[in-house]
Amino acid sequence: MISKKNLIFLGAPGAGKGTFSAMLLDKYPLVHISTGDILRTEIKNGTDLGKQAAALMEKGNLVPDDIVAGMVRDRLAKQDCDNGFILDGFPRTVNQADLLEEALQDIGRAIDRVVFFDVEDELILKRLTARISCKDCGEIFNKIFHPPQEEGKCDKCGGGLFQRPDDSLETARERLRVYYENTQPLIDYYSEKGLLLPITETQKELVFRKLEKELA
Ligand code: ADP
Ligand code: ZN
Repeated sequence: MISKKNLIFLGAPGAGKGTFSAMLLDKYPLVHISTGDILRTEIKNGTDLGKQAAALMEKGNLVPDDIVAGMVRDRLAKQDCDNGFILDGFPRTVNQADLLEEALQDIGRAIDRVVFFDVEDELILKRLTARISCKDCGEIFNKIFHPPQEEGKCDKCGGGLFQRPDDSLETARERLRVYYENTQPLIDYYSEKGLLLPITETQKELVFRKLEKELA
């Protein structure tokens, strides 16, 4: 069982935030709040917000702080977050972290741990550019490290697999640069608050075991 369950997942794109969110969610009734997923849904639905976000995301740039902070604030206010939540991909700037703190104070919640997935650039780029996901259920595969049993087809639901447009080598490099410039300062930010839980393991089972132990 885990008792620390109001969580932020921090780390470069492709560091494993989505993968380990999914593994924890299989076992615990946490709410998964991925700003990337919310934005991709807005794009799919063709909303004004989606149109604005699409142009930025395609280039690997960040969506404005107040927009993503507003989305997260609304989601965190819902009652199902009483059971715990994972903020995946938010905050990504110090300003977003400040906005989050205000929002949490308003709704009477607090972060228990900030899990920092510390993975080397070289591995990140390999993972990102070989990443494919299921268009139906969102399951993540990797052409090198975790290929599907049948090419182009999801093991879980049989859906078609696709590469995210922002996982091209050029955009992946840009996202990594944006990460170092904007998001890396959050490591010190949360370390100073005594909330940081660094994870340097990369092997799946080891990471998961460590997570469960440290969040117990
Ligand atoms: P990954 O973590 O794999 O890079 P995400 O799905 O979290 O991908 O995000 C994809 C894109 O969505 C980002 O490159 C950015 O353009 C946008 N985005 C997601 N979350 C945020 C955020 N908190 N602030 C600004 N932009 C965001
Ligand atoms: Zn699927």
